[in-house]
Amino acid sequence: MLLGKSLKRLTHKKVAEILNGDFSKNLKDIAKKVANEKPLSKSEIVYLLNLKKETNERKAMFELADAIRKDTVGKTISIKGIIEFSNYCKRNCAYCGIRAKSNVKRYRMGVEEIIETAVEISKFGVDTVVLQSGEDPYYTVDKIVRVVKEIERLTALPISLSIGERSVEELKMFKKAGASKYLLKQESVNRRVFENVHGFDYDERIRLLKALVSLGYITGGGNIIGLPEQSVEDIADDILFMKKIGVKMAGIGPFIPARGTPLEKHPFGSVDLTLNAYACTRLVIPDVFLPSTTALGSVSANLQYRGLDVGCNVIMVNFTPAKYLEDYAIYDNKRNVEFYHTVEDLLNSEKKLSPKVLRAFDKMRKERENENARIL
Ligand code: SF4
Repeated sequence: MLLGKSLKRLTHKKVAEILNGDFSKNLKDIAKKVANEKPLSKSEIVYLLNLKKETNERKAMFELADAIRKDTVGKTISIKGIIEFSNYCKRNCAYCGIRAKSNVKRYRMGVEEIIETAVEISKFGVDTVVLQSGEDPYYTVDKIVRVVKEIERLTALPISLSIGERSVEELKMFKKAGASKYLLKQESVNRRVFENVHGFDYDERIRLLKALVSLGYITGGGNIIGLPEQSVEDIADDILFMKKIGVKMAGIGPFIPARGTPLEKHPFGSVDLTLNAYACTRLVIPDVFLPSTTALGSVSANLQYRGLDVGCNVIMVNFTPAKYLEDYAIYDNKRNVEFYHTVEDLLNSEKKLSPKVLRAFDKMRKERENENARIL
């Protein structure tokens, strides 16, 4: 058969294995499409999303996604550093532990404190600084612009904003100041599912996502797996939507209930479906930046590392100052993904990391060894 000209070595090998192996016609047809760089249909994505645990078909899908990941975005796992700089939010998303009506202790980091933390992060070899908060109008355009400009000047690192909905004019100003990436999950492209949990304007969310792409941001979309009344078809639509509008990053995590919210009794999202969604997203958008999310890691750390075997290529390490960490409780028992142990675990599972990250880790390891020797 004719294989796509640009198809790279590992993908080629895995496609050939599927075509020659004892697999269903469905999976072989999907592999042929991947080989010829043809788009997958919604029913094919639904087929993949529904693959059951412990089956050969699912294992083959995971291996194909892993091969595509390595051939397109590379073998190195991208480590991004996130600062959760404010847990104030004017919104009331039904699942969120820091929604306006929740009783959490609130905090805001000052402009200088955010900049200093970002400078600190840059010493760890991370490849992006992610600035995240609730929708907090305290951070005016001037404040965000100053933070972005200063971090860019002092660290020369790409800056990703995850601060909720802002007007297109504001988004333009942040871009001009130096922000190159923006995360704004669609949550669900099914209007009913979206409005059930958000209660605000679906059309505006979609309009802003498209505007971010048009403004030249490396745009991040994403969804939550396991929202009320969400179907597998809805998840397939989310993946197709991200492909269609030109999303380059996708944050996909399982729903985890948060105490004191309207959804506190709603069941956890399926981790198996989340892993399937990672693999499908890699098949549909081969060059996407795909984090294995902290939400998945909050169910189990091993699951978060498992995500890196099924198509994901990003881990977000949390650099929020310790005194605020517990208060950014968007859901219960949120995992603290910190630098040292995460890198140690990734190295133990033979993941490839950038030389900068390895140097920072080595330095920390030596400091810890010296400190232990001094105590003994
Ligand atoms: S999900 Fe985001 S916008 Fe919604 S309440 Fe939580 S922090 Fe605010």
